[in-house]
Amino acid sequence: MNSITSKNERLAPPASEAVEIAAYFDRLFPLLRSLTGAGVRQSLDILGELVDLDRLEIPSGTKVFDWTVPREWVVREAYLEGPDGRRIIDMRDNNLHLLNYSTGFRGEVSRAELDEHLHSRADMPDAIPYVTSYYAPRWGFCLPHRMREALPEGRYRVTIDADHIDGAMSLGEAVLKGETAEEVLLTSYICHPSMANDELSGPLALALLYRRIASWPKRRLTYRFVLHPETIGSIAYLSLRGKHLAENCVAGFNISNTATTTPFRYKRSRCGNSLADRTAERVLRERWPHMHDVSDFDPIGSDERQYCSPGFDLPYGALSRRPDHFPEYHTSLDNREFVSFDALSEAVDAYEAICRRVDDSVRYRSLSPYGEPQLGQRGLYHTIGRAGPPEAMTQALLWVLNLSDGDHDLEAIAQRSGISYALIAEAAQRAEQAGLLARAGEAPAR
Ligand code: ZN
Repeated sequence: MNSITSKNERLAPPASEAVEIAAYFDRLFPLLRSLTGAGVRQSLDILGELVDLDRLEIPSGTKVFDWTVPREWVVREAYLEGPDGRRIIDMRDNNLHLLNYSTGFRGEVSRAELDEHLHSRADMPDAIPYVTSYYAPRWGFCLPHRMREALPEGRYRVTIDADHIDGAMSLGEAVLKGETAEEVLLTSYICHPSMANDELSGPLALALLYRRIASWPKRRLTYRFVLHPETIGSIAYLSLRGKHLAENCVAGFNISNTATTTPFRYKRSRCGNSLADRTAERVLRERWPHMHDVSDFDPIGSDERQYCSPGFDLPYGALSRRPDHFPEYHTSLDNREFVSFDALSEAVDAYEAICRRVDDSVRYRSLSPYGEPQLGQRGLYHTIGRAGPPEAMTQALLWVLNLSDGDHDLEAIAQRSGISYALIAEAAQRAEQAGLLARAGEAPAR
């Protein structure tokens, strides 16, 4: 690492994170993911090279709250042969050609009968749409609308060699312990096949974020990383860990749609003013002032629907850089050419910066709450009375000492005082060193 290199020696260019992302992307993109099955396990294996993932396998048929874990999807091959015997659609060309979670089917059908099993989008005539049928058994193919319209009359031979078996749904989980049991929850979903922004950019960003946080010299908080299929996966995860999360989670984020150069979008948690919300908003405002927007919670979208369901109401927001206008969404056009790995890496910067700030944002309790402590005798206050408002550091100290009641974290004090976070954090450090503050209510990690 620290060897001296002569100036004449050619140095290898630093391996950028984007180059590394590209290599992982190319291995993960072709896998057939769904709610369950081999493609999810293979994806977790590959991401397991970056994240120390524990695998959770939840058996098919397991009741999770109001839902049931579906059977495992096994697909061997799927193709369609036209009237002239030529293979016109083959899943090997693109996973999206097969209706996701399709039942198996072998047989000959007429053009009209076939059409009932075809899915295309007239508004995106050159794209293969991503269509799923998780909860109603049917077979089907997806194809560009232009191709569908050109299919001639005649007999078509369908081969979909697929089964639904009693197996399991696979989830991945990793925990980086900190000094305290309070946790930050970071999740992404892993159930879409062969689409780049939604979804592969999510699990990739989560994996890189794991590696960065694992390398921090110290962590106050504990970090929990979870990869699961969307909706049923987060519901199943909550059935296992919901009680623990309700007791320990202080901030959480859904990580998805990270790889476009469009502005960051933060969607607040249900409670709307959690540490996660306040921190994400401030960090984005400071670091990406003209490249972000913030919206209120709504129960439409991704796994925030589950993590923010009223029984859990976790402080869990959603940060993405999903574009406003995203016609490629859920089609074959959301591919490698559509995304930027540098943008993905920048998104990891944002998640990391927010996590760092959450980690720093301690709640203190004043050890001298009865009247203002005398700052002058501790060297914290100018000792010559003078006209005008107190200097900025003194103001910050007064705010910190007043609001350190065990409930306000530093981010909340910065917000309420209107003073920069950096100054509030420095004032808190000085007050702690002077013996005026103690950390409040943090259970040590178990
Ligand atoms: Zn999606």
